[in-house]
Amino acid sequence: MAVTLAPGLERRLKAEISGDVRFDRFTCGRYATDASHYQMLPLGVVAPRSVAEAERAIAIARAEKVTVLPRGGGTSQSGQTVNHSLVIDCSKYLNRILDLDIAGRRCVVEPGIVLDDLNRKLKRHGLWFPVDISTASRATIGGMAGNNSCGARSLRYGVTRDNVLSIDAVLADGSAAHFGPVGAALRDPAPDPKLRPLAEDLLAIGLRESDEIAARFPKVQRRVGGYNLDALAPNAPLHNLAHILVGSEGTLGFSTRIELKLWPLLGRRAVGACHFARFYDAMAAAQHIVKLKPIAVELVDRTMIELARGIDMFRPTVDAFVRGAPDAVLLVEFAEDDWDENLGRLRRLEDLMGDLGFAWSNSGAKWGGVAQVLDPKLQAAINEVRTAGLNIMMSMKEEGKPVSFVEDCAVPLEHLAEYTARLTSVFEKHGTRGTWYAHASVGCLHVRPVLNLRLDKDKQAMRAIAEEAFAMVAQYKGSHSGEHGDGLVRSEFHKPMFGERLVHAFEEVKDRFDPGGLFNPGKIVRAPKFDDRTNFRYGPGYHGEPTTAVLDWSAYPGVGGGFQGAVEMCNNNGACRALAGGVMCPSYRATRDEKDVTRGRANTLRLALTGQLGPNALTSDEMAETMKLCVSCKACRRECPTGVDMARMKIEVQAARAAKYGLRLHSRLVGFLPRYAPVAARLAWLSNLRDVIPGAAALSESIAEFSSRRTLPRWRSDWFRDSETSKNSLPRMRGRVGEGEATGTALKDKEAASLPSPASGGGEETREVVLFADTFNRYFEPENLRAAVNVLGAGGYRVRVATPADGTSRPLCCGRTFLAVGRVDEARREAERSLAALAPYASRGVPIIGLEPSCLYSFRDEIPAIVKDGRSADVAGHAVLFEEFLAREAGAGRLVLPLAPLAGRALLHGHCHQKSFDAMGAVQAVLKLVPELALETIESSCCGMAGSFGYHADTIDVSLAMGELSLLPAVRNAPAEAIIVADGTSCRHQIKDGTGRAAIHVARLLERCLGA
Ligand SMILES: Cc1cc2nc3c(=O)[nH]c(=O)nc-3n(C[C@H](O)[C@H](O)[C@H](O)COP(=O)(O)OP(=O)(O)OC[C@H]3O[C@@H](n4cnc5c(N)ncnc54)[C@H](O)[C@@H]3O)c2cc1C
Ligand code: SF4
Ligand code: SF4
Repeated sequence: MAVTLAPGLERRLKAEISGDVRFDRFTCGRYATDASHYQMLPLGVVAPRSVAEAERAIAIARAEKVTVLPRGGGTSQSGQTVNHSLVIDCSKYLNRILDLDIAGRRCVVEPGIVLDDLNRKLKRHGLWFPVDISTASRATIGGMAGNNSCGARSLRYGVTRDNVLSIDAVLADGSAAHFGPVGAALRDPAPDPKLRPLAEDLLAIGLRESDEIAARFPKVQRRVGGYNLDALAPNAPLHNLAHILVGSEGTLGFSTRIELKLWPLLGRRAVGACHFARFYDAMAAAQHIVKLKPIAVELVDRTMIELARGIDMFRPTVDAFVRGAPDAVLLVEFAEDDWDENLGRLRRLEDLMGDLGFAWSNSGAKWGGVAQVLDPKLQAAINEVRTAGLNIMMSMKEEGKPVSFVEDCAVPLEHLAEYTARLTSVFEKHGTRGTWYAHASVGCLHVRPVLNLRLDKDKQAMRAIAEEAFAMVAQYKGSHSGEHGDGLVRSEFHKPMFGERLVHAFEEVKDRFDPGGLFNPGKIVRAPKFDDRTNFRYGPGYHGEPTTAVLDWSAYPGVGGGFQGAVEMCNNNGACRALAGGVMCPSYRATRDEKDVTRGRANTLRLALTGQLGPNALTSDEMAETMKLCVSCKACRRECPTGVDMARMKIEVQAARAAKYGLRLHSRLVGFLPRYAPVAARLAWLSNLRDVIPGAAALSESIAEFSSRRTLPRWRSDWFRDSETSKNSLPRMRGRVGEGEATGTALKDKEAASLPSPASGGGEETREVVLFADTFNRYFEPENLRAAVNVLGAGGYRVRVATPADGTSRPLCCGRTFLAVGRVDEARREAERSLAALAPYASRGVPIIGLEPSCLYSFRDEIPAIVKDGRSADVAGHAVLFEEFLAREAGAGRLVLPLAPLAGRALLHGHCHQKSFDAMGAVQAVLKLVPELALETIESSCCGMAGSFGYHADTIDVSLAMGELSLLPAVRNAPAEAIIVADGTSCRHQIKDGTGRAAIHVARLLERCLGA
């Protein structure tokens, strides 16, 4: 990857800007890609703290003769957000609402505010910005205006352009101006006086080209290609100068304030799921359906339905709205204020389907009809299925991937059926395929053919498909870009789409705004060839450097036994940049820095593994910094649409560094804790002195980097002994739910069905279980293990404690602490010891129960990746969290727990790995077994403690900041009598440190009710 040096630029920016100014290779590499297949290395990156700083940065860039690329979330799919420029990242600091006029339904925002963030703030006023794009969780308003983004409900709300009232922008000459509505002849209202000459010239271009615009501009709502010359034509419904900036992809100016039109929140919706036996018929029907004035018509095709049906958690949703095996379903949404009107339109939809000849009673091509979906929860679940289905499609592990370049063409609805059929044949002709989805209402269907852009033949296929597709679109008078913009993908094709004359007019507009080519050159006008491989992410010479990986990545291609392929799974869609909802990625939520998000880390790894960051990049300090704030929460493993598992990848980096440099004292103390724990616990009085003797904590900080602002976990002399089971866990007669004592509350079928069900076999006969006593509960909170033994005993289970098979006395360990510091060899040793002890139980079908989520899940996640034998798979199949086990047993009617009522409230915080492994339902279900207990789950991401992360002097501040995002305030606000339940050792410690309140493991709450 070529690096262009700009020392004057860097020096001046650093001297004059208080925001982030970074010119190092690693940072530049992280900003070299967007969600397209392109890669262009920027000169440097600035995150200005204010609009004034952004203006300053632009002025310095102009003086230093370098170009400028404005950037929001970097989620563009067409390569408009990559360039060899100075990147100005608006998302980190320029994200405020500057003005909100509720009565007038308008607001003014800075460009870096994220759409979902804005809408969360507007919700309490009953308003929203309704351009509901799929990337709403991370796309910024500046980026949406830059791309003229379009939401699924554009039939009702229009596109971004229709909802932008005005824009303040910094222009190439350094002036700042207000772009807003102007009257005819530039009077009533008149433009910002500074803009008058520019406005006159622009309207003159519009007047001159009005015939050409009328003839050549596509007649579809979804046209986002080229500049919006139609906004300048004399017959435009409204002359708003801001609309020439909308969709200009950062090529005309830098937006600093954007005024938006707001709408009342949507009310209750009625959805009709129209079933078709043939895809073609669904496409042909769309033109008739829109006449009923729905607000959206979204396509789900057979592939998507089948993918979702194959997944346990989605099957019930699919079964709830899909009948039989349709080739396509159109989800038609009505949302009028009057509910009866919605129902009336649904009835008319049914009539329409009948008129078109479809009936449930038919067979063959005319089988079909409408399934009504009125339940808002089911509507939300369907939405989730749609998103997830798409994600699964995107997560192909091989080198060929679905590529976005004809993905958002839009054609008039009367041609939709023919267009989709013809394009499908084009794909087949070039040996590829694609799945169709999205916005049938506006003729803008998404489709991505699968190609491997490392191969010349696939690059050639890409050009051939693009040329054939765009020719077809032009023939139908459609638009080659109906949603995602021009960037590097579409700009080359403006001539065949708009004609030479209008392309010249586009160039005139660009030159009138930006004669020196300061802003984002090579986009919309004067673009390079779209298949110029020097601009590709997988450019010429792209190759993996020889790498040895310590974990098993064999499911993927590439060096490091597939490590490269796993890293390349990141397609930059940016879901990990969400600021709320889900739990990915806590470090980004705390710092808002691209370095600290899953995407930033994956990009850094990809560049390192392919030699683009210089020699030894994997073991470099910059790489260590990139990984430093990753708390290994595994949220990305579950929530990243393509399954990027950064916690595992971090182990590779830690291992490579440990092999090269050895371990620092801090890491030694953390990693080897299970080895010295027996001695430390025996000498508990001595081991605990660090938090007793004045000055000792400060000393431990300077010597071993343990922050003096935290107490360390307290060693207990009454640690849990392996022999502590017999008196408590006596076998009980097998009972049935509802029989016997205080309770025996059964789970509802649905809750039980959603729980994981590791194999159970002979264990059921003997009701035998084996407890894996982890190091943390054993030595720091033994009462948790004792509680678990008591509860299991009371449930009638014979509890064994797993002990070493080799006859040694040191307790078993999963190896997690060694993994955390990169000592995979030692982790493997511990894992093998544990497997030797647990495998005999697993082979008899005995459930293996653990309390600490991160330890127990090591048996299901990392251990099979470091010990490749049948034992690890067998143990993984039987390892189950305490609450998963109880929930499963209760769900199956095998558990009676004599639990007394507890009239109170429990506040539940989930450990990251409980969330990552879908165990939250289980712990909630178990808590619901307690009669009269009210349960509330805290909407929290990582607690911030994350093993040793929160103890390190370097990371304690971020650790506390993560806790403060939601968990700690929620606990502080909870009533004093509420019981805080947290199953993670670290989470309990963080809660105690941050709020002074004690949290308990669910086992202890259950035990308390047993004793009541
Ligand atoms: C999985 C996926 C789904 C998507 N779904 C949709 C969808 O439903 N609808 C849709 O329309 N798009 C969609 N997109 C495309 C993309 O997410 C949107 O276009 C989004 O609005 C881009 O926002 P951003 O903040 O990431 O912008 P960026 O990519 O950062 O920037 C977009 C453009 O705006 C310019 N820009 C940014 N800030 C400024 C500024 N302050 N001044 C001037 N120019 C600026 C940039 O230079 C760039 O040209 C999708 C993308 C992905 C990966
Ligand atoms: S890490 Fe996953 S969620 Fe984040 S950008 Fe990459 S693919 Fe998207
Ligand atoms: S493991 Fe957690 S902290 Fe690390 S990248 Fe993934 S989501 Fe972010």
